[in-house]
Amino acid sequence: MSRLDRITPERAAAVGPFLSQTAPKPEFGDVLAQCLIHAASLLGATVERAALDGARGDGNDCAIAVQAILSAAENAGLQAGFGAWPLKRFDAALTPAILILRDGGAVVLETVTSDGTLVIHDPALGKGAGEIAADRLARSYDGHAIILRRAHVADRDAPPEGHWFGAALATNRWTYAQVMLAAVLANVLGLATSVFIMAVYDRVLPNEAVESLIALTSGVALALLFDFVVKTLRAGFIDRAGERADRMVGRRLFDQVVDLRMSARGGSTGALASTLRDFETLRDFFTSATLVALVDLPFAALFIGVIFLVGGPLALIPALAVPLVLFVGLAVQPFLRRHAEGKLAEGQGKQSVLVETLAGIETVKTTGAAPVMRARWEDAVARQSQQGTRARMLTQFAMNVTGFAQQGAQVLIVFYGVFLVTAGSVSMGALIASVILTGRALAPLAQLSQTLARLAEVRGAYRNLDTLMKGGRDRPPGRRWMARPKLEGAICLDAVDFAYPGQGGVALHGVSLSILPGERVAILGRAGSGKSTLARLILGLYAPDRGTIRIDGADIAQIDPGDLRRNIGTVLQDVCLFSGTIRDNIAIGHPCAEDPDIRHAARVAGACGFIAAHPEGYEQMLGERGEGLSGGQKQAIALARALVGRPPVLLLDEPTSAMDVETEATVISRLRAEAAGRTLVLVTHRPALLDLVDRVIVLEGGRIAFDGSPAALMDHAKAGGNRHAR
Ligand code: ATP
Ligand code: MG
Repeated sequence: MSRLDRITPERAAAVGPFLSQTAPKPEFGDVLAQCLIHAASLLGATVERAALDGARGDGNDCAIAVQAILSAAENAGLQAGFGAWPLKRFDAALTPAILILRDGGAVVLETVTSDGTLVIHDPALGKGAGEIAADRLARSYDGHAIILRRAHVADRDAPPEGHWFGAALATNRWTYAQVMLAAVLANVLGLATSVFIMAVYDRVLPNEAVESLIALTSGVALALLFDFVVKTLRAGFIDRAGERADRMVGRRLFDQVVDLRMSARGGSTGALASTLRDFETLRDFFTSATLVALVDLPFAALFIGVIFLVGGPLALIPALAVPLVLFVGLAVQPFLRRHAEGKLAEGQGKQSVLVETLAGIETVKTTGAAPVMRARWEDAVARQSQQGTRARMLTQFAMNVTGFAQQGAQVLIVFYGVFLVTAGSVSMGALIASVILTGRALAPLAQLSQTLARLAEVRGAYRNLDTLMKGGRDRPPGRRWMARPKLEGAICLDAVDFAYPGQGGVALHGVSLSILPGERVAILGRAGSGKSTLARLILGLYAPDRGTIRIDGADIAQIDPGDLRRNIGTVLQDVCLFSGTIRDNIAIGHPCAEDPDIRHAARVAGACGFIAAHPEGYEQMLGERGEGLSGGQKQAIALARALVGRPPVLLLDEPTSAMDVETEATVISRLRAEAAGRTLVLVTHRPALLDLVDRVIVLEGGRIAFDGSPAALMDHAKAGGNRHAR
């Protein structure tokens, strides 16, 4: 507080505009994340940084941020619950808790003293805690809080997040309950019209009772109005449920795709994209009006019951028509399912061809690959539409049967009803009401046959997505990691064997090596000798088949992949930039990087020259995959990206292969100073880069063929033992 006290009004006026420019109001997710870190530390738990990333970057979407915080807390071995808690309920046993504030902020309630004073930690005010009277906090408290407790040990191993889709549906259970309730109301109100018509025919018309007519009409008008409102609300409920499911599941799907182990990836990018898009089929199904038809279905029994009450044996006709339609709808299911699965598979094939073509469009044009790609495309399109046509024919058939049954039933009722009316066992009004009620009883069936037709597709989509969601992850939920916020940089491989999944050949064979912290090592070898593979293994992108990889003495399988990769500045052989500005690209893994750091990294990487030459400098917008820069420029940006967080380990796979000799020389001299005291692993074919290292490892066919100083390598080469140094 004393720091704040020293700011005089004049100084505050001077600082004000500056603050509003540079310190925008933190996002709700960020505030919650800070609160959770603090509250967890009070409970002796550590929240993993990567787990919190889920809560960030969502603007102020409270529901999702809270959800992400709850799962991050559970990941950290805490029990967490969100709910409405009046401030006076809090006592020492219910703390620490995260209180949500009205203005979109949050504070940690650390404890409540015996005299009722609240001890709170406000992330906006720095590290410590402050005291506040309950009635003052009550003014800004929103009434909702996240309660945290250390989980009982037996609970800690349970996977925290629940089923990816089931959990989203479960969050919407109230919405679905409301929809059910609305359906009951709408259907009961639906009876009103037919009862009205019956009453008019049987009671009003014969007696010319105009007053009763007016009363009945007003009654039914009211019922219709109510029906209208209920139906409108119902549509709104369903839309809201859909939106929520969309965002919750959408995020989990995206996280899964990003976190999917490389070895579990399989298939093509296009196929994966297509699987993700299938979620829309699933979402639409669960939030569409067709699903409402399922809710309406049991009410067919109600309508038939009412027909039985007013028209006696007339109920027999709809009672037979309903099972007939249901039977046809279900009978075509197995066929539809087969077609739907085929259609989804072909859809993936189509998407694969498209994505591959677009990603390599320049090559497709220049190498004349277009006809080949078009043939593949046409093949996929033809097969997909063939499956689609068959499925549509079946669906149409089922729908036609429904339509036929609906109309046939009405005609039959009239036919049979005339005999009953003549015999005097059924009134005229009851006959008309029965016709209307039959129509209503069968109406959901028409939608049902559509719903069933889509069910096959939805089931296929669900299965694909479920397989994706069950795929192995880099950070499986519930898994506990060894936290290594800062690594020293000792890398040790012990008898590592590795073969790419599904590939016959072995990429690495019995590789053992030990790199000390601060050591600078070049890895040489012919194309295909396993250099990049070695880099991927050190980064934990793939796990070795045999042997272990240790960093700072810990098996990398135990280290949080987030920590591991944050500590290793990496340039991969295939440079990949993203759409956004140059600054965004350099700072992409370090959102908190300051401008001087970014400029320094760009200078070392030899990127500052061309960045300065461009009128927009660091704000130059790049297209997808870094379009807008030359190959060498992209590589320089990628190198800057690896350097920006000043990681203790640098793992650079051919970082200068696309640079001109002059730039390369500058980069080498700056990199020498930059890499001092850090572990440097440099994969290269360029002799100039050997100046940077004091040890060389040569790989040959996935085995270590040489390990020694650059000078020793020269001797070795002169002796004719090695051909790769040149
Ligand atoms: P270069 O100098 O050309 O970059 P490299 O030494 O980096 O070669 P690697 O990329 O490690 O070679 O490849 C080693 C072996 O692994 C090669 O025989 C290659 O066929 C195989 N390989 C590489 N990447 C994959 C992959 N993603 N899937 C399957 N096999 C792969
Ligand atoms: Mg390589």
